[in-house]
Amino acid sequence: MELLLELQEQSDMALILVSHDLGLAATYADEVIVMYGGRAVEQASTRELFAHVQMLYTQALLQAIPRFDRPTHTILPVVEGRPPDLTHLPTECAFAPRCEWADDRCRASAPELAAPGGGRHRFACWHPCDEPVPDGRHESS
Ligand code: SF4
Repeated sequence: MELLLELQEQSDMALILVSHDLGLAATYADEVIVMYGGRAVEQASTRELFAHVQMLYTQALLQAIPRFDRPTHTILPVVEGRPPDLTHLPTECAFAPRCEWADDRCRASAPELAAPGGGRHRFACWHPCDEPVPDGRHESS
């Protein structure tokens, strides 16, 4: 990263990092685009994304960041299941088979990447994290 940042500075160029490590993004990126099933599913400035995560998948990536304040040998949380076959993407939300909040709406159609409240934080989810649903399932996560 030191070398990349040095080259970026020297060449006055933009830098796109592709990584599963959101800790890396938190340290070096101005903006984050979270991809799932070959699609952008959440996009925001790094500060906004970490403060107001909206997608359960993004939340899972954040929880998988190793932290020094955890006891040693702590097993990081994982999302059960497998990612979708990119050659046969479903019409439903691609994360639905692995999402504990998936319902009929999620299985009927994939939400578009959008910023429902305006602004620049965009996400593709029918049930974003900051919109609790009546059965309280968001509160348990
Ligand atoms: S649209 Fe539904 S299945 Fe997809 S991430 Fe959001 S809650 Fe989960």
